[in-house]
Amino acid sequence: MEQYDSIVIGAGPAGLFCAIHVGIPGSRVLVLEKKDEPGNKLLLSGTGQCNITHAGEMRDFLPHYGDHGKWIKPALFSFTNRALLAFFEERGLPMQAGENGKVFPKTRQSSDVLAVLLAECKKKEVEVRCSEPVTGITRQNGGFEIVTSRAVYHSAIVVISTGGASYPKTGSTGDGYRLSESLGQPVTETAPALTPLLIRNFPFAALAGISFEEMPFTVWRAGKKVGEYRGDVLFTHLGVSGPGILNASRYIRPDDVLRLSFVGAMKREEFTADLTRRVQENRTWQVGTILAGYPIPERLNRKLLKISDIPDDLKCNHFSAEQRTRLVTNCTEFPMTVTAPGGYAVAMVTQGGVALEGVNMKSMESKVVPSLYFAGEVLDIDGDTGGYNLQAAFSTGYLAAEGIRKRFAERGSLSGK
Ligand SMILES: Cc1cc2nc3c(=O)[nH]c(=O)nc-3n(C[C@H](O)[C@H](O)[C@H](O)COP(=O)(O)OP(=O)(O)OC[C@H]3O[C@@H](n4cnc5c(N)ncnc54)[C@H](O)[C@@H]3O)c2cc1C
Repeated sequence: MEQYDSIVIGAGPAGLFCAIHVGIPGSRVLVLEKKDEPGNKLLLSGTGQCNITHAGEMRDFLPHYGDHGKWIKPALFSFTNRALLAFFEERGLPMQAGENGKVFPKTRQSSDVLAVLLAECKKKEVEVRCSEPVTGITRQNGGFEIVTSRAVYHSAIVVISTGGASYPKTGSTGDGYRLSESLGQPVTETAPALTPLLIRNFPFAALAGISFEEMPFTVWRAGKKVGEYRGDVLFTHLGVSGPGILNASRYIRPDDVLRLSFVGAMKREEFTADLTRRVQENRTWQVGTILAGYPIPERLNRKLLKISDIPDDLKCNHFSAEQRTRLVTNCTEFPMTVTAPGGYAVAMVTQGGVALEGVNMKSMESKVVPSLYFAGEVLDIDGDTGGYNLQAAFSTGYLAAEGIRKRFAERGSLSGK
């Protein structure tokens, strides 16, 4: 049986960053990765460009983790976005803030981010073994016995950083939840998050690809408004996506009704008054020509007229009050019923996971199983789009390493070598 001081399960950003920072001279650190290569999800992130963090102030990060911002605060402040940028810049990979404060490597290549992490692992003599899924962990002799598809290891410390259950092809298939539960660690219910929404009888399938900047939309459940949002929205073949929808998806359930506004910030009453004035001033024009005066994409404009049962050639002097009401509703509060949020296959992250109450969030050590640590998306933390999830992975990975270093300092060598 091979003996290690620390074994990190999962070579994603959280696991690699933790392994790099454990950094106790002479201690043996092993990262076990299930897939043939490390960092598969990191490579996909930001459509391969890696939106690594956000340029905002650290305190402004907290609301981007839903109700769990206060839990992740110690990790975020222990290793901030500025520290993350400095880490990569010092290793020859400068970063750049793009639109909306999203930060990317200047090269816009996720593979460059992964290359820095792997080079650092090498420098710190961290072993990374791929194609070696961990199938079981048990408590043994004050440490842990870790069983993989190939071998059995013993380690004083174990870090579970196996990611969530979304995009399973990248290797994150929820193993961390099962491994944690097998050790008695509480895990909350999980669900796909940051996911596109499938819409019942989606009427705009032919307009897939059209996107709207900063679109206001509301969410209704059983006739009551339960949410009000604003963000970029994209039509897909089966429904809606885009950062605004992805971020709101954690609050949206099947059968909820979305009401989208295609006329920007203009409220229903304001749009009604404006449309009425334009119609009255241009009695001989077609209604479609009036509608074209608003910033609605032309193809959508025609579709909205059709759905509102207004003939293409209808002149303003024949535009009835009922037709106007229908058109106003469809332009300012277009209703769409959600069939379901997209599943794990398309969700960017997982909500739920290792329950935060069971973890000391100042060290990332389990409160239930001493010497067991957690980092990254396996925890019940999920952030908005914009770099918040990768920052969470790096910050929790760093804090777990700090927790482990303190433990070593208190107790000396833990492996009994
Ligand atoms: C398409 C896509 C784009 C994204 N873009 C962004 C973005 O631009 N910015 C952002 O902030 N976030 C983004 N995210 C989210 C972000 O990538 C994740 O939150 C982040 O990768 C989580 O890091 P992690 O290390 O916790 O887990 P992961 O990156 O999922 O890594 C976990 C690793 O553990 C391994 N593993 C699992 N089970 C076992 C086992 N039993 N034994 C051994 N190894 C195991 C997996 O194979 C995997 O390599 C994106 C996600 C997706 C799917």
